[in-house]
Amino acid sequence: MAKIKDPTPLTLDHKFFAEAKRYLVGGVNSPVRSFKDVGGAPVFIKSARGSKLYSEDGREFIDYCMAFGPLILGHGHPEVAGAIKEALNNGTVFGAPTKSETMLAAAISNAIPSIERLRFTTSGTEAVMTAIRLARAYTGKEKLIRFTGSYHGHADYLLDCHGVPEGFKKHTLTAPYNDLEKTSALAERYKGNAAAVIVEPVAGNMGLVLPGRNFLKGLREICDRYKIILIFDEVITGFRLCYGGAQNLFNAVPDMTCLGKIIGGGLPAGAVGGHREIMKLLAPEEEVYQAGTFSGNPLTINAGLETLKILLKDDPYGRLEDLTTRLCEGIAEQVKIRGIKLKVNFIASMFSISCGAKLFRKLYHALLEEGVYLSPSNLETNFISTAHDDKDIDKTLKAFNKVLIPNVETS
Ligand code: PLP
Repeated sequence: MAKIKDPTPLTLDHKFFAEAKRYLVGGVNSPVRSFKDVGGAPVFIKSARGSKLYSEDGREFIDYCMAFGPLILGHGHPEVAGAIKEALNNGTVFGAPTKSETMLAAAISNAIPSIERLRFTTSGTEAVMTAIRLARAYTGKEKLIRFTGSYHGHADYLLDCHGVPEGFKKHTLTAPYNDLEKTSALAERYKGNAAAVIVEPVAGNMGLVLPGRNFLKGLREICDRYKIILIFDEVITGFRLCYGGAQNLFNAVPDMTCLGKIIGGGLPAGAVGGHREIMKLLAPEEEVYQAGTFSGNPLTINAGLETLKILLKDDPYGRLEDLTTRLCEGIAEQVKIRGIKLKVNFIASMFSISCGAKLFRKLYHALLEEGVYLSPSNLETNFISTAHDDKDIDKTLKAFNKVLIPNVETS
């Protein structure tokens, strides 16, 4: 394929990026931020407020990446910021229990009844690692079934990359997402040694892919049949689709749930929870070890508590869905009129744009020029927050309208 010319002129961002690369690997602290998938230099952000990002060189963007999911109330929500400031006045970390941890655990458990006991971690990755360790301990089995295209954090046995020993990889089996037949065949083949099935109930790391009508309930049946622990990775979907998990919406109940993102109100967070018989295997009750210096730190917990309080009180999910639907149907309409090969998938306040890599790169940079900041990969999901409004949607649709022709070739 012909080399695509970097569509952005040399900017301050290129200068910042070159400097960053002298000290940080790839200039970033998480790979997708480097704009590898869309080319050019990433935008260096100075600040953010509500639905907007502000770059170091003074540009304003309507943000649909929203830090990849945690910010359902937008950037710097005043009440969440207030809760963080209040917590800060009392100290940042104690290495001892707090009453607010119990309150957040209770709020989560009330919203997601399959979570009878819970442990907070500092990231979604840690939550998933702990869920799998528990599933293995509970079942006494080793194999793990996951789905192609899903992402569950960067634990060894959930990645297939250099540096992961074959001995780890061999315990991880992969089935196609939404394919019950192949999942069932794997469970049958490894009968007696499959500990867990882990699934994103709405897949958010291969673009947005919705579960087929019977997929989640079908997984429940397979897991029951073969005595496998069903883990829902709700790091993205928890409190995103509704007040609770995707499990509330789809009426499919896992044995264990992993959470992250929204429950930390914009600060580093994770949690693993589930049936008390499984969870009680964790130290200190029993012998499955897991710990964390910053787990349940008071800043995160108070930001999470305030976020859940607002979500419960305001119930913004209908409005979020309306905004997302208007945006996505508007884009789909423009794309259809022009015969462009681009698909928009959406649910609740999540959406993704899938099209060829070349088209995505061009579209991406053309939209940046118009002040619209999407997640910088067409494998990532975009998010709408309560801070977004009709004006943002109008402006974004206008930007799409402008850039789809003539700036973006359709092939
Ligand atoms: N699970 C899912 C579905 C995710 O999307 C992510 C991160 O995006 C993770 C787990 C890992 O979470 P964290 O980045 O907090 O480690």
